[in-house]
Amino acid sequence: MKTYILLYLLIIVNIIQAQEPKIDLSFRYENSKQKQKHYQLLKKCIDEVTENQTKYDVKYYSLDLDIISNSKFQKIIGTTKIIGKVTGESINYVELNFWNGMTINNIYIDDSPTTHLDYTWYNDIVKINLDSTYLNQTEFEINISYNGLPQNCPYGIFDFNTHLNEPMISTLNEPFGARGWFPCKDIPSDKADSVDIRVTVSNNLVVASNGLLRDTIINGTTTTYWWHEQYPISTYLISLAIHPYAQFSDWYVYGDNDSMEVQYYVFPDKLNDRKAKYSKTVEMIEFFSSIFGQYPFVEEKYGHAEFLWGGGMEHQTLTSLGGTSESLIAHELAHQWWGDAVTCNSFHDLWLNEGFASYSEALWFEYAYPSYSASDYQLYSEYFGSGKIYIYDVDNENLFHGGLRYDKASWVLHMLRHVVGDDMFFNILKQYYTTSKFQYKSATTNEFIDFCKEISQMNLDKFFQQWIFGEYYPDYSYSWYNTKVDNGYNVNLTINQDHDNTGLFWMPIDVKITTSSNHSYFVVMDSVKNQNFQFFVNEIPINLELDPDNWILKKIREIDSSIAEEKNADGYYLYQNYPNPFNPSTIIQYELPVDCYVELTIHNLIGEKISNLIYEHQKAGNYKYKWNGDNFASGVYFYKIMTKSIEYGEPDYLQIKKMLLIK
Ligand SMILES: [Zn+2]
Repeated sequence: MKTYILLYLLIIVNIIQAQEPKIDLSFRYENSKQKQKHYQLLKKCIDEVTENQTKYDVKYYSLDLDIISNSKFQKIIGTTKIIGKVTGESINYVELNFWNGMTINNIYIDDSPTTHLDYTWYNDIVKINLDSTYLNQTEFEINISYNGLPQNCPYGIFDFNTHLNEPMISTLNEPFGARGWFPCKDIPSDKADSVDIRVTVSNNLVVASNGLLRDTIINGTTTTYWWHEQYPISTYLISLAIHPYAQFSDWYVYGDNDSMEVQYYVFPDKLNDRKAKYSKTVEMIEFFSSIFGQYPFVEEKYGHAEFLWGGGMEHQTLTSLGGTSESLIAHELAHQWWGDAVTCNSFHDLWLNEGFASYSEALWFEYAYPSYSASDYQLYSEYFGSGKIYIYDVDNENLFHGGLRYDKASWVLHMLRHVVGDDMFFNILKQYYTTSKFQYKSATTNEFIDFCKEISQMNLDKFFQQWIFGEYYPDYSYSWYNTKVDNGYNVNLTINQDHDNTGLFWMPIDVKITTSSNHSYFVVMDSVKNQNFQFFVNEIPINLELDPDNWILKKIREIDSSIAEEKNADGYYLYQNYPNPFNPSTIIQYELPVDCYVELTIHNLIGEKISNLIYEHQKAGNYKYKWNGDNFASGVYFYKIMTKSIEYGEPDYLQIKKMLLIK
């Protein structure tokens, strides 16, 4: 009896371990679409630090806001206090970013509204004449009282909305929205050392924000929530989320006597659902802390506040969340390290935020699903379009381009991991995060590259040049043959780079040679248009694969007369599966020039259909399907694609290819 129970348990454990994760990366595109939509309304140069702004450093913001929101009327009435320190030559005026759709009531010093300061306001920059000249290293303090409705500010999102007939107010400043609702020096590299946020709302509402809740003060029909952020913070990471939230919490325990509360602010009707959907967050904090270094805001909190938005936004210590997928939760949490603690110096370097958070998803799935690797995850993030990861023109490029800043940038880290090796890669990440040069500060792309070179002692210039500052990907074709020599075989490999107009890629490539009884791995350094390599193996080689474990963002095909064929004239194409032969899984790739019904099936040697892989309507594009032959015997199989423009009509395209499963 016991044996049976044990067996039963083993089966359950196996099922859990074999569980395939559900990957949904649509939030990356949701994020990019929505942020860009707002941002594109701007047609003027805003990626600009004025000369005056280079001469001072912001130490502190205090935001005091009354938020009025009812069905007829919305408004904010606020006072922002700024303490700055002169870091350059002396100054007698201060320039702040502030959207001039708001109304300024008064600007003054020393908490004394009678000490009025003169100002001009042009191009959303307030130039404030100080009461005297401030010398290098001296501090100044300015108070600005104002009011208005930031809802229409084109720089970011201050959303007065409703949810289930209750107000749902949320902010999303990235990239330049902070200036829409408080005057500030609105660049990511100038972090305030600390921030106080006091928000007064009607009694039924809950205000969630950055840092720790210092106090809740009830004043008759209104309540003031006082949040304090004691860690350095960029203006784009300051946030408000306001609703009659339901709350629950969890604990991240990181020492015998140390723990941190993980707080969730959720829509009341979703309380039970969110308790289930958020249940892995603490384990994610533990995991990321173990590989990157301790959670950056451990003296405060982490948490989620729901908002009405498809994606998420990594507000410091409190992500604003519109979805619930495991990938999204991992992504926004990872931003606390990559984006919040180590911030992109400017939005030119945005990939340092988004690429790192996106690759952290892959690291989480690799850890959480033992049968699954980061390489598997990266198959969902392939980007083969044009454009560069580094943003040369912040005003005119699509900053949050999902393919470049998220997908391809995550590939750069995946590739870097293989080029420097696992130990060195994780060493680089940990040191990059923990070094005082970057932690709670910011980094530029070149600083990150120099740091990688310094830690690894490798020359990575070509690697980063082609992947970050250059375009596209290597397009490999290869062929091989063997010759019998004493004691074994020479395998002769030719690798070609076929992408003509994008330059040649410098990449180490893994070569896997399969013989009848084992595999041999080699690494070649490929960098020219046509390159020949030779390897020696003891037994007759049956198969050769390039980059079998998917460490390079690439297109690749084996040149073999039997499979060398062009796309048909209409643009449909069924690629040769890879790897091939395979065990147990292989990738079947195809291209659709138009939206159509697709049927993808597997057949055995005598033509019987043994598996239906796809039967659905798909949009035009390039698709990959991973087929797992675990439950099938070794042998030859055929995969067949059939497409139709109307579901029960005649096929527009039909193609069959052969593949070999070897166990
Ligand atoms: Zn992100």
